[in-house]
Amino acid sequence: MAHVADILGLHHVTATVADAQPDLDFYRGVIGLRLVKKTVNFDNPYVYHFYYGNERGEPGTIMTTFPYAGTGVPHGRHGAGQITVTSFTVPDGSLTFWHDRLTDRGVAVTHEPGAFGAEGLRFADPSGLTIRLVAARDVRAPWAHADVDAAHAVRGVHGVTLSVETPARTAALLTGLLGFDVVDETESVTRLAARGAAPGRLVELARAPEDAPKGVNGLGTVHHVAFAIATSAEQLAIRDELLGHGLQVTEVRDRQYFRSIYFREPNGVLFEIATVPPGFTVDEDPAALGRALKLPPWEEPNRRDIETHLAPVSP
Ligand code: ZN
Repeated sequence: MAHVADILGLHHVTATVADAQPDLDFYRGVIGLRLVKKTVNFDNPYVYHFYYGNERGEPGTIMTTFPYAGTGVPHGRHGAGQITVTSFTVPDGSLTFWHDRLTDRGVAVTHEPGAFGAEGLRFADPSGLTIRLVAARDVRAPWAHADVDAAHAVRGVHGVTLSVETPARTAALLTGLLGFDVVDETESVTRLAARGAAPGRLVELARAPEDAPKGVNGLGTVHHVAFAIATSAEQLAIRDELLGHGLQVTEVRDRQYFRSIYFREPNGVLFEIATVPPGFTVDEDPAALGRALKLPPWEEPNRRDIETHLAPVSP
C-alpha cells in the first residue's frame, strides 16, 4: 500500500518513571547519555520532563522521562499492549565494559544472545523499566566524555519492543501507513524498520503470551514511542491518512522542540509522530543544553510557582 509520507525512524521513547534524581543519575551518570533538555511535562508542569540523547539530541537517540513519584501515580504493570523493552546501541566489543560498569553499580545484568544475532545485556533502570544494550554497528555520533569514551559510549536508541496480542495488526499499520518494512522474523518476534534496518529505526513486535496481563501505565513503564517526520506538511498528510483509516488522532500539539500528533495503534500502544524541526537548540545554545530549567513560553509567567513544586536536582 502506498503511504503519503516517510517516517524517518524513531524520534524518542518516553517513560513514566519514579524519582527525578535517581533517573538523572542513571541515564546521565551510568548510561552516559547527555541531558539535552530539562523542562516540564507540558500537560502537567509540576512534573519534570527530562530528555536524554547524544551530543546534539538527534531524533532517534532520545529517551525521555516523566518522574512522577510523589504525585499519587501508582506503579504500572508490564504487559500486553505496551512497549516492554527499550534497546540502545553500544559498539561491538563494548559489552564487557558495560557489564562491569553496571554490576559495579549494583545493577543486576543478564547476558542475552539476542533474537536477531546481536549480543546484548538486559537490566532494569531505577524505576523498573527493562533496558537492553545491543552491540551493533551504529554510525551515529555518541556523547563521549571522560567517564564513557567513544569506544564504549551509547549511540542512541536501537529500537523498541512492543508486547502485543495481535502482531499482524500493528505490522499492517506500520507497513501500510507509516512506510515500515518487515526486515526479520523469528517464531515469536517480527522486526520492522523504517528506511532500512539501521539502529534507531527498529520496532520489534513480540507476540504476548495468551495469559499475559494487560500492561498498565504508571511508574516504571514506557508511555509511548515517537516516530520522526521531516516536516509539518508531511505530518498533516499522515494525520489525514490515519484519520481516513478510522484511527483517532489528536490535533497537532506544540511540544516546543517538535510538533506532535498521538494515536493508539490497534493493539493499544500509544504512538506519536514528531517533527524533526525545530530541535533542542531552539531555546538553548548547543554547548549549554540541559543545564537550565527551560519552560515553554506559555509557562514562563508561572516559573516561580513551577520551580517551587519541582524537587531540586543536582546539576
Ligand atoms: Zn513524546
